[in-house]
Amino acid sequence: MHVLPAASFGSSPMMTITIQDFSGFSIPPGGIRRFVVPLSQLQSTYGRLVRSGAKILGVCNSLNGTAATPVPSPVGSSTPAPAQAAQPVDRPARKAPAKAAHGDVPVNLYKPKAPFVGTVISNETLLKEGAIGRVNHVTMDLSGGELRYVEGQSIGIIPDGLADNGKPHKIRLYSIASTRHGDNLAGNTVSLCVRQLQYEKDGELINGVCSTFLCDIAPGAPVKITGPVGKEMLLPEDEDANVIMLATGTGIAPMRAYLRRMFDPGERARNPDYAFRGKAWLFMGVPTTPNLLYEEEFRSYLSAYPENFRYTKAISREQNNSAGGRMYIQNRVAESADEIFNLINLDSTHLYMCGLRGMEPGIDKAMATAAAARGLDWKTLRPQLKKAGRWHVETY
Ligand code: NAP
Repeated sequence: MHVLPAASFGSSPMMTITIQDFSGFSIPPGGIRRFVVPLSQLQSTYGRLVRSGAKILGVCNSLNGTAATPVPSPVGSSTPAPAQAAQPVDRPARKAPAKAAHGDVPVNLYKPKAPFVGTVISNETLLKEGAIGRVNHVTMDLSGGELRYVEGQSIGIIPDGLADNGKPHKIRLYSIASTRHGDNLAGNTVSLCVRQLQYEKDGELINGVCSTFLCDIAPGAPVKITGPVGKEMLLPEDEDANVIMLATGTGIAPMRAYLRRMFDPGERARNPDYAFRGKAWLFMGVPTTPNLLYEEEFRSYLSAYPENFRYTKAISREQNNSAGGRMYIQNRVAESADEIFNLINLDSTHLYMCGLRGMEPGIDKAMATAAAARGLDWKTLRPQLKKAGRWHVETY
């Protein structure tokens, strides 16, 4: 496997090696490819490329304005790595992204004491026959207010009625499942992906207060909304970024918004400044096939953008992992850990995790194994990714 391990994901000096006609990297004859490596690895990488038959066209400092995207390629992996397969070779120079300031992102436009009152437009099941539980897509009209948001934010909902203490219910936060333009592209709606919480206590079935309120709510009904909140899960503005998404169940909400922004034809027409050209790789965990959420949308993106979108499912109660247990997304991540690791080795790659907290240790373990195979320590690298604003987690 031709891998160029980086000693750091941080700000160590990086060098670009430009090569031509290197058959081992499946570039077209006469094509040009660039590798970005830490200065400390320049000599060994240069030597390796020369020994492999590459014609070296030049070496320069990556940050002096002439560098291009790094393209380490996982040749030899069983499935093609989405990020490397179709990288244009003549991209404009890009500096390593600093953590975005996100100063212009709206937050707390409506507070719990004075919420915005929206109106339900539609409330539809997202599940197919035979699915477990109840998961609905609820869309609310925001017309007449100031509430606006961007992909990856959450809103608060205050359910009707009073809590056991006689006071109004507290807000519950939900990740927004629509883009800033809303499902109708008119910019005046917000959508949520809501699973009705149900559990047993002392032999009695308990329904979650707010999730039941939202799953039962009828079109035309008023809803008290606060927010928006959250800057952890924002998408990079970079149209060439690679975006890895790990979602369990309704944790798909922000990913559905990202993918619409990237691939929905109406969204693309509304976003002249965001014509996504990177690689998006979604890992989705659900208990059964009928529980898959937004499946038709994702399939349409696969058909329209096969070079840019990859979709990997973990269907826990239908598939087994290698140990014979339920297939969870951390098992799928472990299967592709090398490819994922190669991707996050690129400064342009972001990883998003949303859903059950239980997936985190398994994902860390898979990444730690991939890092160790390269002589690297995941415990050191992960905080660097976080600091660089490329590792985004919202789990409960
Ligand atoms: P769910 O349908 O109950 O579960 C989704 C999948 O995750 C199932 O296949 C389930 O498998 C699997 N799973 C269970 N334990 C797991 C573990 N330890 N590691 C990996 N996968 C595991 O999901 P849900 O009810 O929609 O709940 C999703 C969670 O995401 C909720 O806790 C919700 O609060 C949270 N959420 C968070 C956000 C956010 O962070 N902003 C947004 C939306 C939802 P089995 O059931 O077959 O074992």
